[in-house]
Amino acid sequence: MRVPVLQLFRKKIIIPFAMDLLHLQVPQWEKTGGLLHGFLGRRGGKSVGPFSSLNLSFRVGDDPQAVKDNMCDVKRAVGVHGGRIVTMRQMHGDQILEVRDKNTKEAGEADGMVTEEPGVILGALTADCVPILFSVRGRKLAAVAHAGWRGTLAGIAPKMVRYLREQYGAEPTSVEAALGPAIGPCCYEIGSEVSLPLAQRWGQLAEGCLRAKGDKRFLDLRALNSLLLVSAGIPPTQIFNIGPCTSCAAEDFFSYRRERRETGRQLSFIGWL
Ligand SMILES: [Zn+2]
Repeated sequence: MRVPVLQLFRKKIIIPFAMDLLHLQVPQWEKTGGLLHGFLGRRGGKSVGPFSSLNLSFRVGDDPQAVKDNMCDVKRAVGVHGGRIVTMRQMHGDQILEVRDKNTKEAGEADGMVTEEPGVILGALTADCVPILFSVRGRKLAAVAHAGWRGTLAGIAPKMVRYLREQYGAEPTSVEAALGPAIGPCCYEIGSEVSLPLAQRWGQLAEGCLRAKGDKRFLDLRALNSLLLVSAGIPPTQIFNIGPCTSCAAEDFFSYRRERRETGRQLSFIGWL
């Protein structure tokens, strides 16, 4: 279906298509020919109720047919032809898998995936946790990670940087990382069961990301992951924060915390054509 010409001039970063899709991209990556990537919002899908509307997870109790339709529509809209968007069974840990086959539907239990295979598009599903996309300068190498507080405690983000160096010879100075829409320090109230282990493992890096308001404490999960990426060797100028707080932006993003658990998952994806 064609979209009215007027829609092409909308101000938000949207790929014009029949779907009203919210598709945020990294400005620095947009001109990299052949690199397909984005952070999708919740609008433009077929799911209803708490999953309204672009839920892309089969594991949250949504109608599987609606999720299938959503995935098909997304693939067409973002230009994935003849393959799948590979997801993983996210465990809130630090396991990283390599994906070689573009027809893989789900890579297995992991919170990070890497590919050097053209046509393999990697996806992470989130609703408050931090989706992180990785690209490597001068290489057709792509990776994705999912970092909630447990994954952050396990160190999934810095582990990915080490993995890219050890398995692929990609120096951290050549790696770029984009952290997508995630719950912000405005909304992410945490207790000592979260703050203590994080402070124990990451010391001042974690403490610098805690905000006190009265007797409540809030965590800036995206900032902590950015600092961990820098400590792993990625130059700060190669780390990009994309999109708002998922809990604040109710119209645009699913938020597990805001919706008290029953909600959908939005997709973040990256790969080379
Ligand atoms: Zn917020």
